Amino acid sequence: MFVSTQVSSYDPDADIGGDADMGRDDHDWSEMEARSSGNLWVKGDTIRVCFKLGSDAVVRGRVRQYAQMWESYANIKFKFFTKKWPDEDSDVRIAFKKKKDGNNSQVGTNVLNVPEDRPTMNLNITHKTSKTETQRLVLHEFGYLLGCKHEHSSPAAKIKWNKPEVYKYYYLKCRWDEGKVDRNVLNITETTQHSRFDKKSIMLYRIPPNLTLNGFSVPKAAGELSPTDKSFIAMMYPPDEVRCHRCKERIHTSHPNQGHKCQLKYI
Ligand SMILES: [Zn+2]
Ligand SMILES: [Zn+2]
Repeated sequence: MFVSTQVSSYDPDADIGGDADMGRDDHDWSEMEARSSGNLWVKGDTIRVCFKLGSDAVVRGRVRQYAQMWESYANIKFKFFTKKWPDEDSDVRIAFKKKKDGNNSQVGTNVLNVPEDRPTMNLNITHKTSKTETQRLVLHEFGYLLGCKHEHSSPAAKIKWNKPEVYKYYYLKCRWDEGKVDRNVLNITETTQHSRFDKKSIMLYRIPPNLTLNGFSVPKAAGELSPTDKSFIAMMYPPDEVRCHRCKERIHTSHPNQGHKCQLKYI
């Protein structure tokens, strides 16, 4: 699991198939500093997520349910609503466009730079998409929203790719050109904030063994947050806490469900 420390910006000319998440580094970020540090939100922030008016209520309910799984570990809240676009009250705008656009999201606070009539995330799902697949996609794209990037792009990944096979595989699978494969699969993002390589991360793709030179593979993409995903995001967005005045245990006040049952008896 890792977050990019480089700030990139929304690029209206960018090709947004698959998992487009790259941009140019030419934006003036001063106005956004109050809410962000690099690509990360400020801990405790409430991110306002707007679904496009007319989208399927069942699907919206599922997106909400799965996205909120991140809230148990990151000190971030999502506020969901449905409204006509353009919408100046939203940070994130989710569209549900079919096939060509695939699933994608801007990374972290990059969303704040997207014009108010444009989506910042696309989810290619319907109420017919299985709940397992919906959960996987929503957790993955909301991982971007929290500033995380693909685990195979982490400096800790060190995957020995068989590049010609990788280009061939993604061309056949989703018609990606080499530039897009480089951006989404092969390129390493330099960062100092990363965990050890995590084969179970929600941010990792499935990797068939013929795509590597040493037989390394990831048989199945993860469908849920891994233990490292949970602990790493909690480090990036640490909980607000107080100490119990009697037993001195830390109590997380930003996660109200994790109440403290004091073991010390009243004197
Ligand atoms: Zn992705
Ligand atoms: Zn106590």
